[in-house]
Amino acid sequence: MQEFYNETFLNAQKQLDHVAQLMNLDAGVHERLRYPRKALIVSVPIKLDNGQTKVFSGYRVQHDQTLGPTKGGIRFHHEVNLGEVAALSMWMTWKCALLNLPYGGAKGGVCCFPEEMSVNEMERLARRYTTEILSMIGPEKDIPAPDMYTNENTMAWIMDTYSNFIGYAVPGVVTGKPVSVGGSLGRKEATGRGVAHTVKLALEKLQLGTDEPTAAIQGFGNVGSITAKYLHQHGVKVVAVSDVQGGLYSPKGLDIPRLLSYVADRGTVVGFDDLDAIENREILELEVDILVPAALANVITEHNASRIKCKILAEGANGPVTPEADKILQDKGVFIIPGILANAGGVVVSYFEWVQDIQHLFWSEEQVNEKLIYLMGRAFEEVYQTSTAKKVDNRTAAMMIGVGRVASAKLLRGLYP
Ligand code: NAD
Repeated sequence: MQEFYNETFLNAQKQLDHVAQLMNLDAGVHERLRYPRKALIVSVPIKLDNGQTKVFSGYRVQHDQTLGPTKGGIRFHHEVNLGEVAALSMWMTWKCALLNLPYGGAKGGVCCFPEEMSVNEMERLARRYTTEILSMIGPEKDIPAPDMYTNENTMAWIMDTYSNFIGYAVPGVVTGKPVSVGGSLGRKEATGRGVAHTVKLALEKLQLGTDEPTAAIQGFGNVGSITAKYLHQHGVKVVAVSDVQGGLYSPKGLDIPRLLSYVADRGTVVGFDDLDAIENREILELEVDILVPAALANVITEHNASRIKCKILAEGANGPVTPEADKILQDKGVFIIPGILANAGGVVVSYFEWVQDIQHLFWSEEQVNEKLIYLMGRAFEEVYQTSTAKKVDNRTAAMMIGVGRVASAKLLRGLYP
């Protein structure tokens, strides 16, 4: 199964091997969980606006289907490859199980430079990619959602393409859609709302002894910007933010509501209020109470972990901390809220969206948010209690719960044939 091997996939496997040993996991189940169940690599040819034809590489990986259909985002990014998508699909399995959702994990992506593509090119890419992976997806099989550089427009194109093949509207084939085509109220904000809520719960547990904790956020897209909005509302002083173009730092704290409208107009945080610039590398090492990496994987490694100074690290991104860095941060006493918990709000409300689509019965935003906060709070408490009882770090505790649920279902179902 060396096809999947790259740094991110090997990190995901290492995390699984670590908890498997601690839990004394059944060896056969462990072996099955180390690899995705199914993976598809497709060529995605499209006509560019200049008339030329270009072929992109697309992937869809389903890690596990024990508890239900698979679920996971679609990413358009130049670093997308089979190993990364496979690792992300594995984390989705643990995340869904931790939150008690009836899903397994999946992920997909296309290797491309979305910043350099027009909206029309993105639409052609999304539609042709959907066509190529059509046999793998469906409301009862595998339900994609947005991830980096994809959004609700992308989901509307995927839903439309799939529905055209089937012959009638199938809103349940994707989540994170616009509300007018079967999306859920509250979905767009769900991941960031969930990240901010887990930080709030961590602050209550840790009692840092400050009235106005400080935060730095790397990445200011869907997850980073909404996390900033809700941290600000919870009384946290957000002192630094960044995106792919650069970052801002102000020890007095950023005016988040004004920054959000600035970014909505300009598409970047750069240039806001003529504040001091800060590099993406530096933002991670600031002296703040809360650090939220909300962009790429593997940004905190054994090379910079010893310089990380935060007390709480909430993983808005998937896989921002390597296993080697994890150990260094634990030794420093950093309270890590692992991605499979911190950023699970997105898949929780995606689940609500899918349930609403299947029932053709839609909920109010208050109902969605209330249920989201309830599920996030329950999972946070389970992780906290497990970590205390088993004397393990939060990531290990979260994975023990997630892996444990999938493993016991696998043992009950047995191995076919
Ligand atoms: P997005 O495309 O909306 O935003 C990505 C942000 O990261 C942008 O601000 C971009 O400028 C910034 N960025 C890109 N490259 C960067 C770099 N090298 N340095 C600093 N910033 C950089 O994506 P998103 O949906 O916010 O996803 C961000 C992360 O959160 C990803 O790891 C994703 O897997 C994870 N996540 C997203 C969701 C969701 O619902 N969207 C759910 C769970 C986890």
